[in-house]
Amino acid sequence: MQDLLSRIRIVLVNTSHPGNIGGVARAMKNMGLSKLVLVEPQEFPSDKADARSSGAVDLLENAQVVSSLPEAVTGCGLVIGTSARSRHIPWPLMSPRQTATQALQEATQHEVALVFGREDRGLTNEELQQCNFHMHIPTNENFSSLNLAAAVQVIAYELRVGVLAKQEAATQQSAEQPLWGTDWDIELASNDELERLFEHMQQTLIDIDFLDPQNPRQLMPRLRRLYLRARPDKVETNVLRGILSATQKMLKN
Ligand code: SAH
Repeated sequence: MQDLLSRIRIVLVNTSHPGNIGGVARAMKNMGLSKLVLVEPQEFPSDKADARSSGAVDLLENAQVVSSLPEAVTGCGLVIGTSARSRHIPWPLMSPRQTATQALQEATQHEVALVFGREDRGLTNEELQQCNFHMHIPTNENFSSLNLAAAVQVIAYELRVGVLAKQEAATQQSAEQPLWGTDWDIELASNDELERLFEHMQQTLIDIDFLDPQNPRQLMPRLRRLYLRARPDKVETNVLRGILSATQKMLKN
């Protein structure tokens, strides 16, 4: 699932404040995203970016710096642009949640890019028109523009929630699998190995006067049920046999 997130890149266009780039790196790493692409950042690399990233410096070091948006989204099958306000020619618009669902779905097939604009002017119409869809975070209409890193945080969180939901669904499916799969680390004891264990157990219980052969009652069936239910593996069966042998040996001495 994590590899889905590694196929979703965050593209920042022409960012003016390096601190925001650091804030974006931090937001991304918190949510498990790793791929950051910077189109003509005004100041990068920068100590201010490193400081604001609070430990997400690895993302900054691996960030790709390019000179145009087409270069930043090369190889992507899905490009989603973000905008704080509505534009002249409306494009198909998605909520952050729809964006996350769409991006995670398509990340199984190809690389995905989420594009964020400049602090002062956002993305140009020309840039927005290079995108398949637009995403708007439903903010207060009278105060709609989020800080760049805060906007990335919103979508990064939605992506994480989406991945966790997919993981949940996968474990749900595995709950429908049989209780005993093929993933036990040691091979289970075979039926005849268990029969030999039961014989050995019965003999030892007789030897130590715990089982009366004239009046065995339900002792062996109960013990059989216990061990058959537990499904001991080969190593566990050997350990049990070892304990029985040691008990018998001690009796003889
Ligand atoms: N004054 C600019 C706002 C830029 S904010 C404008 O009107 O577009 C910087 C970037 O943060 C934006 O380009 C966008 O990528 C993101 N952003 C901020 N608020 C957003 C919102 N409500 N929805 C989607 N993206 C937003």
